[in-house]
Amino acid sequence: MKKVLWFRRDLRVHDSMLLATEGEVLPIFIFDTKILRGLEKRDRRVSFIFEHVLKLKADLKALGLDLALFYGTPFDVFTYLKTLGFDEVYGSVDYDDYAKERDAEIAEFMCFHSLNDCYLFEPHEVLKKDGTPYLVFTPYYRACKALYTQFYALEYKKGKQSLSNFNYSVLLGIQGHTLNPLHVTIESIGFEPLHVNSLAPQKALEIFTCKVDAYAEKRDFLDADATSHLSVHLRFGTISIREVVRFLVTLKQQGHTTEPFFRQLIFREFYAYLLYHFPRLAWENYKYAPPISNDAEAYERFCSAQTGYPLVDAAVTELLSTGLMHNRARMVVGSFFTKHLMLPWQKGEAFFAKHLLDYDASANILSWQWCAGTGIDPQPYFRIFNPYTQSLKFDKEARYIKHYLPILSDVPNACLHKEAYLLSHEITGYPKPIIAHESARKRFLNTFS
Ligand SMILES: Cc1cc2nc3c(=O)[nH]c(=O)nc-3n(C[C@H](O)[C@H](O)[C@H](O)COP(=O)(O)OP(=O)(O)OC[C@H]3O[C@@H](n4cnc5c(N)ncnc54)[C@H](O)[C@@H]3O)c2cc1C
Repeated sequence: MKKVLWFRRDLRVHDSMLLATEGEVLPIFIFDTKILRGLEKRDRRVSFIFEHVLKLKADLKALGLDLALFYGTPFDVFTYLKTLGFDEVYGSVDYDDYAKERDAEIAEFMCFHSLNDCYLFEPHEVLKKDGTPYLVFTPYYRACKALYTQFYALEYKKGKQSLSNFNYSVLLGIQGHTLNPLHVTIESIGFEPLHVNSLAPQKALEIFTCKVDAYAEKRDFLDADATSHLSVHLRFGTISIREVVRFLVTLKQQGHTTEPFFRQLIFREFYAYLLYHFPRLAWENYKYAPPISNDAEAYERFCSAQTGYPLVDAAVTELLSTGLMHNRARMVVGSFFTKHLMLPWQKGEAFFAKHLLDYDASANILSWQWCAGTGIDPQPYFRIFNPYTQSLKFDKEARYIKHYLPILSDVPNACLHKEAYLLSHEITGYPKPIIAHESARKRFLNTFS
């Protein structure tokens, strides 16, 4: 049987479950018009994906294979491939709503083999004694650790494969029954090429070797550069999760402290697991419904980094200018958005989804629900981050704030953590705080009660 190997969240040749299959194969990537049409023409993720798809194609060629490129809906692409005699497809799991629907649609007329290539554990492997899913992270984490053996991090070697005949030199546009061969350029799919700053994953791992011991102590500091920068690579599978774990095991054997970092990788698993078991979390509160304001002006000021809270505005500027945001800043911003501004977490989630290079539905949705206090195992609703004490603690010298908001460079560092100063001084070109912290806190708690 001829196998279609459908690359999606696994854009690599090393340690790939897809490439461990055997027989005649047609490796493909689909630039999915259903996803692309919702994006702006200058979307960093499309550039990142395009670049890595071309790299994947070159790496496959070096292995005697190739990558067929399509532009259309998966339904149209597979309908066409079916007419060419393909009736079996392999693809790695994806738990967001759209991906599940898409795969189910294809599985109606192709034999669909789902591979657990993005995560260590399958969602049904880690359950409580009564067979139900864990709802709290720590016991889930303990269960994962108890279950883990080196089997979970084994490297997948390439199987014996031969390449199906196909025209690999074009980007094949497909709409219904119409085929339209296109040049293999990002412009052919309607996007502008953008430069995306990201370290190669193996380089990121190598650099992380020097950071791993201090990870727990320093990861929250906004200008410490103490984290791995692997999120975008784990998102698009430009590195395998198993390779990251093998790397940690080696470091552990050398005497390094690896547990705090491993814990974060299991957080990633936990959020995917929760979204798999509770798909309604994508739009619904699991716990109570928080008070909601639909203050359009507050939303606009937030999105344009004009709230007058230096840490929040610096973080939003980081997001808009780089496509990323430090984890501590994401936590403060999420709390500020849902509690100070009382805006619905779904709107904050959507704003991140639009701009994050490492956007991952499960990590983003569950993290926003955590910030809002509405999710499974969230932070308590009454815990409201104070952005000033957060910046004093994690950006004392205001390096992060001033890097992203140079307009504040003349303001003494200490004053950027003091609300009284920001409320009483005019700073040219920068607004006063949108609401005083204490009144926002009281407003939220009073409305909530
Ligand atoms: C409101 C909010 C939204 C978020 N949205 C996303 C998102 O869309 N995509 C995303 O990958 N992460 C998201 N995170 C988690 C976290 O902020 C990023 O994974 C992290 O900042 C990426 O940087 P890093 O790779 O250097 O992380 P490191 O600290 O080096 O962590 C290593 C890896 O562990 C995983 N990880 C770390 N923290 C978390 C976490 N809290 N939840 C899930 N996985 C985690 C990531 O895959 C990360 O690459 C979000 C967090 C918050 C609070």
